[in-house]
Amino acid sequence: MKALIVSGTGEQPRIADVVLPPVGPGEVRVRIRAAGVCHSDLSMVNGTLAPSYPLVLGHEAAGVVTEVGPADATGRVAVGDHVVLNWAPPCRECWHCTHGEPWLCADGGRPSAPRGHLASGEATHVTLGLGALAEEVVVPSHAVVPVPADLPADVAALLGCAVLTATGAVNRTAGVRPGQSVVVIGLGGVGLATLIAARAAGADPVIGVDLSETKRDLAMAAGATHFLVSDDKIPKSVRTLTDGRGADHAIECAGRAATINTAWRATRRGGQVTVVGMGARDDLVSLSALDIFHSARTLRSSVYGSSDPDRDLPTLAAAVHAGTLDLSPLITDRIPLESAPDAFDRMSRGLGARSVILFD
Ligand SMILES: [Zn+2]
Ligand SMILES: [Zn+2]
Repeated sequence: MKALIVSGTGEQPRIADVVLPPVGPGEVRVRIRAAGVCHSDLSMVNGTLAPSYPLVLGHEAAGVVTEVGPADATGRVAVGDHVVLNWAPPCRECWHCTHGEPWLCADGGRPSAPRGHLASGEATHVTLGLGALAEEVVVPSHAVVPVPADLPADVAALLGCAVLTATGAVNRTAGVRPGQSVVVIGLGGVGLATLIAARAAGADPVIGVDLSETKRDLAMAAGATHFLVSDDKIPKSVRTLTDGRGADHAIECAGRAATINTAWRATRRGGQVTVVGMGARDDLVSLSALDIFHSARTLRSSVYGSSDPDRDLPTLAAAVHAGTLDLSPLITDRIPLESAPDAFDRMSRGLGARSVILFD
């Protein structure tokens, strides 16, 4: 099958033929219908994360189950089921899983897993246990979540990473309430989905911040009430829009120390900063001890939206189905697999929202 692979840190992603292993016990084969290109895929390519190579990219996808493994089939999914892939399937047995925090499962967190091989025989690895920018995946059956068959595949794909992450950050981690002010910093796919989720939660104002003026129309379409181009006056501009106090919530979606610092300073005394962006190991955030005490702010991260995908993905799918969650502003490019390298180029230059690869 065809897949988008990268051979090493900083290499250009390219299409290659990959041979997947047979479907084993407790596994399923999924024919991918649509897959998003997420910033974490770029982090696999540029070395922010440290996966093993050659690596099949992709972890945000929807498809159809075409084969269920032998012997101990769990009965969770059947051939023909439409599913969304889950890149952090919880084990349900570790301390975190049995204490209501499946998103922190002790079994997760590895950037890549060995699976399949190239035509040359060289072993390949798959992103986050999935490798979804490919015509097919072979994954554990608990890494797929059934969704209605008539959910559009492009939208369904985004549920698995950007949308679960964003809605979870707003509703579960931050706990945004109606009438609260929210500033979202960094308007890639997750940031735009966070604007949609904040507006759906009743937040007002909802302020989008990005380095690029080109994100203004996307931000407003996603539900922002205001858009600000990032500069060193963002905290002051946010205070102006929030009766001089600063925002109740700042949600940082860029994964950089500088923007975490901006989020901190744009938040009111007693407010909450939620870090969604995944940054680099050596990018240090500096806050003064007096400021931490005096500001009474909370700073916490949101891993996979503090969500349980088995519980929350069907709820999101139902909301899309019912028309109460409109994700159409998120998708700016629908392209074939052959054009996926261009999508990485656009993303690295901060252009557009989500590019979705369509396989049908
Ligand atoms: Zn992602
Ligand atoms: Zn676990």
